[in-house]
Amino acid sequence: MLAKIHSRAQAGVDAPEVVVEVHMSSGLPALAIVGLPEAAVRESKDRVRSALINSRFDFPARRITVNLAPADLPKEGGRFDLPIALGILVASGQLPAETLRDVEFLGELSLSGELRPVRGALPAALKSRAAGRSLLVPADNADEAALVSDATVLGARHLLDVCAHLLGQQRLTPHASELGDRLPRYDDMNEVRGQHQAKRALEIAAAGGHSLLFIGPPGTGKSMLASRLPGILPPMNEEEALESAAVASISDRGFDAALWRRRSVRTPHHTASGIALVGGGSYPRPGEISLAHHGVLFLDELPEFDRRALEVLREPLESGSIVVSRAARQAEFPARFQLIAAMNPCPCGYLGDSSGRCHCTSDQIQRYRARVSGPLLDRIDLHVEVPRLAHDVLRPGSAPDGEASEQIAQRVVAARRSQLQRCGKPNARLGTREVNRNCTLGEGSHRLLERAMEQLGLSARGYHRVLKVARTIADLAGSEVIADAHVAEAIGYRVLDRNSA
Ligand SMILES: [Zn+2]
Repeated sequence: MLAKIHSRAQAGVDAPEVVVEVHMSSGLPALAIVGLPEAAVRESKDRVRSALINSRFDFPARRITVNLAPADLPKEGGRFDLPIALGILVASGQLPAETLRDVEFLGELSLSGELRPVRGALPAALKSRAAGRSLLVPADNADEAALVSDATVLGARHLLDVCAHLLGQQRLTPHASELGDRLPRYDDMNEVRGQHQAKRALEIAAAGGHSLLFIGPPGTGKSMLASRLPGILPPMNEEEALESAAVASISDRGFDAALWRRRSVRTPHHTASGIALVGGGSYPRPGEISLAHHGVLFLDELPEFDRRALEVLREPLESGSIVVSRAARQAEFPARFQLIAAMNPCPCGYLGDSSGRCHCTSDQIQRYRARVSGPLLDRIDLHVEVPRLAHDVLRPGSAPDGEASEQIAQRVVAARRSQLQRCGKPNARLGTREVNRNCTLGEGSHRLLERAMEQLGLSARGYHRVLKVARTIADLAGSEVIADAHVAEAIGYRVLDRNSA
């Protein structure tokens, strides 16, 4: 009269184990669900009852108690419908208990017994593999769950299919994902006309994992450039692809097979709320910075963003993750994104333009720039100007300009490899001590950097950023020694320091 079914909740990108216990006793017929269920789980009663009856099972006229254990774990949504229904069938003797022991179940039921997809099937598959059990999910979740190699994933469309499988009448075959080795395609760098300095800065950013700020008037291709970054980054490895798919899997949009192994470019608008940006809500959901995990976060018109929202970005920029708290609940989401930001040189955007249409006062310009100054700007490694180009350069239909993304990516991959061999991480993430050990300069370059520091008024943090960028430039050149030219180029990417000096 007591059945235990294995299932999983969802907390951040984790999928903690939940045991669904179903107990039947004499007394007035009733169905009660205990164990901190949310409203959506309580609604599960009606769905489970209809699904069982419409699938021609007996709905026992007994007192049924469903306990979701442990009780202190928040439980959301219809994911427990299927385990509850199976628990009732086992407790009433309509299904044998032993066939369910090594399987975990997730799935929402329709009133007719069809299985509807749930959020977070991929994180659940990771955990059931670790627990040595197979995972049975709605068919629409099977592709995503089966991305976890060596996980045994079964997909079913209807409660009756699940029962036929458990009764040994018609076995479900383990689902094999067809997504595996597919490589994504990105827009090519050579579609961007001109802007060679900006392209070079993107290559350096890609090679060392550096954050980058484009400064230039509207319509100079800043967002076009940013969208080309994934195409020159090293391809995602299996672990990165799984982590990034796991975030999508728990987001409101859900997992999308078309985006598998694709580095995402997230471009939140400057009016986006703090929650949309960093995550949150009463059932904490990942925000833009987590959806950009192992991809690119592009913040266009940086000074227009809410300053408090930008301040929150400092933490994940360093740690690669974000903890979202709401009331008593906490969730941690990964957020290892590469930041590309863009801004106009002045409020109107046309400072220094030959048309002379900019009438911004120096006061206005200073106020505008002050909005991004401080701690966030301090964490951006490269600043580069993206000037307006002559019309004939921009003329559409002209041939590809400069190298293709594939060629650039080869240098980036080689440079990354030497960084990983040296310190086990990209240069952008080197700590102070690692910088001091691995970014040593010769006498001449040291003097060059000292002079620049004085002239630009560089902070100690800015100083270390120049060293890290110089290290990446040397890596791109295949040089173990950081030469004068590498330092000089790195200093050139501190435009905003220069202007404010
Ligand atoms: Zn202006």
